[in-house]
Amino acid sequence: MCRSVLWQVILACVFLIAITALVLGGYLLNLAQSHYLDTLEEGLISQAELVSELAEPCMSFSQGECDALADGLAPRIGARITLIAADGTVLGDSERDPATMENHADRPEVIQALVEGVGRSTRHSATLGVDMLYVAVPVEAEGRVIGVARLALPLAGIEHSLAEMARKATLAAAAVALMAAGTAFIVVRRKLSPIRSLTQMARRMATGDLSRRARVDSQDEFGELARAFNRMAARLEQTLKRISDERDQMAAVLSHMADGLIIADGKSRVLLANPLAGQMFDREGRGMEGCSLIEATQEHELVGLVQRCLEKGEEAVALLELGPRRRFVRVIVTPMAGRGALVLLHDLTELRRVETVRRDFVANVSHELRTPLASLKALVETLRSGAIEDREAATSFLARIEYEVERLIWLVNALLELARLESGQAALKLRPVDLRELAAEVCSPLEPMARKKGLSLVIEIPPALPPVLADEERARQVLTNLVHNAIKFTPPGGRIRVSAWRIKVAGGQVEWLTSETGPLPSDGLPDGEWAVMAVSDTGIGIPPEHLPRIFERFYKVDRARSEEGSGLGLAIARHIVEAHGGRIWAESEVGRGSTFGFTLPLWSGQGR
Ligand code: ADP
Repeated sequence: MCRSVLWQVILACVFLIAITALVLGGYLLNLAQSHYLDTLEEGLISQAELVSELAEPCMSFSQGECDALADGLAPRIGARITLIAADGTVLGDSERDPATMENHADRPEVIQALVEGVGRSTRHSATLGVDMLYVAVPVEAEGRVIGVARLALPLAGIEHSLAEMARKATLAAAAVALMAAGTAFIVVRRKLSPIRSLTQMARRMATGDLSRRARVDSQDEFGELARAFNRMAARLEQTLKRISDERDQMAAVLSHMADGLIIADGKSRVLLANPLAGQMFDREGRGMEGCSLIEATQEHELVGLVQRCLEKGEEAVALLELGPRRRFVRVIVTPMAGRGALVLLHDLTELRRVETVRRDFVANVSHELRTPLASLKALVETLRSGAIEDREAATSFLARIEYEVERLIWLVNALLELARLESGQAALKLRPVDLRELAAEVCSPLEPMARKKGLSLVIEIPPALPPVLADEERARQVLTNLVHNAIKFTPPGGRIRVSAWRIKVAGGQVEWLTSETGPLPSDGLPDGEWAVMAVSDTGIGIPPEHLPRIFERFYKVDRARSEEGSGLGLAIARHIVEAHGGRIWAESEVGRGSTFGFTLPLWSGQGR
């Protein structure tokens, strides 16, 4: 408490007033005491002179008359009266019997009165046992000193009056000190209010809250200080807000940049890296800032490029494979005016993949077209070189030409369909489709082909299975492709089964609504009711390394064995099923057979 300015000022006030009161009070009391005593003495002397005159006639008579005079005058004067003969014999006393009193010739006031005409003394009375003020004057008769008239007053009364005065003065001083302390408290407290407000504001600023302002209601130096502080806080708040806005903008730009960005200092230490750069080097969680570039990226080529740029002060560009996922990246390192380098990482992996896909696609299409076109050319040339004359041979060649043209038309249509499905332009004509009927319609034209290969083709679909909501034509296309493949890739004597079940998916949990169960995709299904349809065979199977790729365009497991096919069937099937919101998948074991499954949404009865 005593550390606060307020209390220090109050204590100083009280101390000053106490000291002043003490010094001034002591001095004044002293003055008053001597003035009081002087006045008292003067009065007593006048009274003593009066008593001296009155005592003169009786002094020459007996002791009894003098004593009676002293007793008679004392109450009227209000002082003790002692009448003493010139030899010191006490002739009369208002308080005691003079006969019992000792000789007073040695009393200082008596001696002084006889010598100087007036005697004064303040001392302890041996007769009365109290402190007394004595005054004495000689009693003269016919120009001769015949004795001394002495008046005495007890000092206790005077001391009491002086003590009373001192007490009142102390009380007054205390009251003044209290009033001064109170006034100082109010004034200083008021004056210090901007400082208190400033202290609170500074505390809030230390916690990061810059919105607080000090209350200013005075025009003095403290008020001016508070106003200056408020202006400083406002300025600081504005500046911080601007910096924070700029930092947010910068962070937004960095995090939404399509390229990775790293800023490194002159010692190849990472100062800043955007999230994309972190992803590229698998450092999202740990952050790269503060690490050396080699520690953060583990890429010596990149670090070399940055160092080259820093040494030469020139832009350096390179195509590098970076990060744990070996992304194909165009790296541009730009020097930053002697303060390090800016590394821009432009990921070209996807671009390269698309380019590879495009090149593969062109190669695949050319390959698929070249075979029938080469056959056509050969057939036409053979006809032209004379076979046209042979009617039987010409008919056979024309039939083969027709087959190749049809194959070409089928291929072009398949490519168009795939392009439409991939671009999402293929409109589905959704309507309820009965899967039992669809399976029968698909299997019946393929039945002769299966029979020819010695295969059994069975449909096992429960009659109670509700219809699916699908584009019938495209659903037929999917099933036809799967059954056709099964026939193609199953050696004679094998068995092909087309089945379907009903499931309900809720929160990723599958509930089978048919008595029997079937295959399911490994990556889960969306919520809803679905029909699961599967085509399983006892064919050659698909090696596990090919299984993930068989739904890609033009993908064939064994090119030599599948020369007839285009490798487009499963790709088209996948797009059709996915356009319905369903999934398609394959399970297989080499030498034992394969199962192709797909899901289609069940018709809810109200259409979609
Ligand atoms: P294709 O016209 O060549 O049949 P698909 O896209 O329908 O084209 O099939 C792609 C490849 O998947 C086939 O070439 C074949 O290697 C493999 N495949 C498809 N179905 C089966 C199956 N039931 N058994 C074994 N392999 C199959």
